[in-house]
Amino acid sequence: MSRNTEVFVIGGGPAGLSAAHVAAKLGATTLLVDDSARVGGQLIKQTHRFFGSSNRDAGIRGITIADKLQQDVKEVSDRLTVLENTAAVGFYHNKEAGILSQKAYERVTYQTAIVCTGATENSLTFENNDLPGIYGAGGVQTLMNVHGIKPGQKILMIGSGNIGLIVSYQLIQAGVEVVGLVEGMPTIGGYLVHASKIRRLGVPIYTSHTILKALGTEGVEGAILSRVDEKFQPVPNTELEIKCDCICLAVGLTPLIDLFQQAQCRMVHVGELGGLVPLHDSSMRTTNPEIFVAGDASGIEEATTAILAGRIAGARAYEATHGKSAQAEAIVAEAREELRTLRSGSTGERIRWGRERVLKEVGEC
Ligand SMILES: Cc1cc2nc3c(=O)[nH]c(=O)nc-3n(C[C@H](O)[C@H](O)[C@H](O)COP(=O)(O)OP(=O)(O)OC[C@H]3O[C@@H](n4cnc5c(N)ncnc54)[C@H](O)[C@@H]3O)c2cc1C
Repeated sequence: MSRNTEVFVIGGGPAGLSAAHVAAKLGATTLLVDDSARVGGQLIKQTHRFFGSSNRDAGIRGITIADKLQQDVKEVSDRLTVLENTAAVGFYHNKEAGILSQKAYERVTYQTAIVCTGATENSLTFENNDLPGIYGAGGVQTLMNVHGIKPGQKILMIGSGNIGLIVSYQLIQAGVEVVGLVEGMPTIGGYLVHASKIRRLGVPIYTSHTILKALGTEGVEGAILSRVDEKFQPVPNTELEIKCDCICLAVGLTPLIDLFQQAQCRMVHVGELGGLVPLHDSSMRTTNPEIFVAGDASGIEEATTAILAGRIAGARAYEATHGKSAQAEAIVAEAREELRTLRSGSTGERIRWGRERVLKEVGEC
């Protein structure tokens, strides 16, 4: 079986949904595939009110933003086909890709592809880190907020970035005891407003600490923590035993890049963006001219910026097949301006450096 489309979008998170919506609305026949049962990406598990720009959904719950994006794509369903439970499994020569669902393997031919595959969760190396009861924060959110299942009764959170702080708060709301939050750095990584909330609820925060070992044989029964020095090395005789039945790792995300490597896009390592990312220009076009990128796959950031980058990629992918368009140009200009505002100030500094490095590599900066 085979399908033919002008724009082929891989991943139905905020970046992919926005890219597909813009490309189809401008007039391109578009196919979007997502390997999960419901499009929306990370947003479908995010029950908290979003931080970010007030123009771009701040104060709205992630799940509500997902509903809104799903509604947008329904409006252009005459030109946009959405396949859920369908994974893109490979890029081949001559603008061909393979997609796999439970029913069939199919070949897709396309003019341009936009890869919006998001990110994978990082793990940590410590003794017994493969015991049942050790989860990534995204896994915990999926269990709780999508399936209504508590991961445990007493949980230890590792990592105090916004994800660790928000998921801790959601665990407490779900009736799980958060027995502590561990952070290797001397200060909390996420916004202090989130940290204050969980501190007020009595959760001890162990900064300059790490986990040395998970305790238990059949499953998690506790953990050994230790203080760390300025080089993040455990300080002898500072070990501390904590009782818990679950350990949650919120220690960052890494862009999901396998498909770019298959498509022979040039990759670059940018620490500020979470690791290896495909080199791309300000139109989100990679070094393979048929392949665009948007969202966390281009560097770990936020849903708001993923939506805007998706809009740019969707507009440029449309133009790649249909030629220059004033409407597409206006979408790109507006999204670039919003991105500039969102990334300004001290909180956007790291991302700005990372993004500038990528643009320098392609000679745009
Ligand atoms: C706890 C938490 C809180 C957050 N809070 C905020 C917030 O308040 N404000 C904010 O702006 N951002 C927030 N974010 C960040 C935001 O969720 C992400 O930056 C955003 O979802 C990235 O969008 P994306 O479309 O790039 O990727 P994702 O949302 O990860 O979507 C990628 C999609 O691609 C699919 N996929 C992957 N590979 C394939 C394949 N081969 N074939 C088909 N489909 C594939 C995945 O299943 C997924 O559905 C938060 C994140 C977390 C984890």
